[in-house]
Amino acid sequence: MNQTVTIKVKLNFDNQTIANKFEKTMEAYRLTCNYISEYIFNHNFDMSQTRLNKAIYSDLRSKFGLKSQMAQSAIRNVVAKYKTVKTQLFNNPLYYDTGQKNAKGKKVYQRVYRNLDWLWNPISFNTPQVDLQRNRDWSYLASKNLLSLNTLDGRVKVTPICKGFDQYFTPEWKLGIGKLLNIGNKWYLHVSATKEIPDYQVSQTEHVVGIDRGLRFLATCYDEHGKTAFFDGKQVARKRRKYKKLRAQLQAKGTKSAKRRLKKIGQRENRWMTDVNHQLSKTLVNKYGKNTLFVIEDLGGVREATEKTNKDSRYENVSWAFFQLGQFLTYKSNLNSSQTVELPAEYTSQRCPKCGRIRKENRDHDLHLYICDKCGYSTNDDRLAAINIQQLGTRYVSGEEEPIIIKDK
Ligand SMILES: [Zn+2]
Repeated sequence: MNQTVTIKVKLNFDNQTIANKFEKTMEAYRLTCNYISEYIFNHNFDMSQTRLNKAIYSDLRSKFGLKSQMAQSAIRNVVAKYKTVKTQLFNNPLYYDTGQKNAKGKKVYQRVYRNLDWLWNPISFNTPQVDLQRNRDWSYLASKNLLSLNTLDGRVKVTPICKGFDQYFTPEWKLGIGKLLNIGNKWYLHVSATKEIPDYQVSQTEHVVGIDRGLRFLATCYDEHGKTAFFDGKQVARKRRKYKKLRAQLQAKGTKSAKRRLKKIGQRENRWMTDVNHQLSKTLVNKYGKNTLFVIEDLGGVREATEKTNKDSRYENVSWAFFQLGQFLTYKSNLNSSQTVELPAEYTSQRCPKCGRIRKENRDHDLHLYICDKCGYSTNDDRLAAINIQQLGTRYVSGEEEPIIIKDK
């Protein structure tokens, strides 16, 4: 299989001229994308690269001053965006109330699949950025540790800041598009890198680790030796509370500048949470080593995640963070001869791992304790979920494709 990652390279330079060149190029690119988007919107969503090239390529170069490669990138970028939206629309059909009722007295809805014709306006490109093609628009001079980037006013050279950047310049990594971005007054090049890795065989599994994601503990892990590892969430909770207070204050103000700051703070909080998830997933992958099968709950909707939050924690914040941790763990384990699987989490917080008894009331939410009313087994409730998830993983390794916990009636 191929594993693609995004390398986030910070660009180090202290030169307003370079910043101006970047800004000018990004703005021209953004306007170009909007121009292409409008064309596609007005021409029956024709997304053939060849026909688009024929129809507007020379416009793009004369109107916006883009070089040939950048104009091509812009077309590709816009087409990709339309394809994504097309899929999203299809995956989110509408349900019309037909006004009729079925035999059981329930309302009958009609499902309507949507296509791009449902768009009211062309997709708009608001974030300034530019896609640079490897070796044409961007290249790395390893001997001088410099990145060379193309702008409308010629090439500029800047120093990349990225731990382990060198490791991607080996034959096994294929480097692709570099996205030039400006985030919080800092400049970045996000480079996509792909590596071919052998498919994980369940038979190579040496360790099975069940992971429960939560708020009190970001992750509770339980392995095949019966060892538990807790990754404290206190610091995260504290910081989240701080952000929450700050947001509430700004919301109360309601001024335009407060709204702007609110948005900024939200972005900063997300970036910070992303960083936490990167570190945590990296720690987990390193801790358990190669040939590990990590098992996490399939979050399905966000129901399972919302159950864990209390009144004070905004659920949307938690659910994306849980989801993101799963994604990071997935690709990082892939790159380390390991695998992450998602298995259904039903009853993982109600089941006694010793005797199999399933009873909701065995769990005391306030004491964070589970006590089995049948066999007397007791444990911390975060740990309980991790054990049950680990046991599902063990069943998976022994050949069950979709192990689930079933409650006897
Ligand atoms: Zn029991």
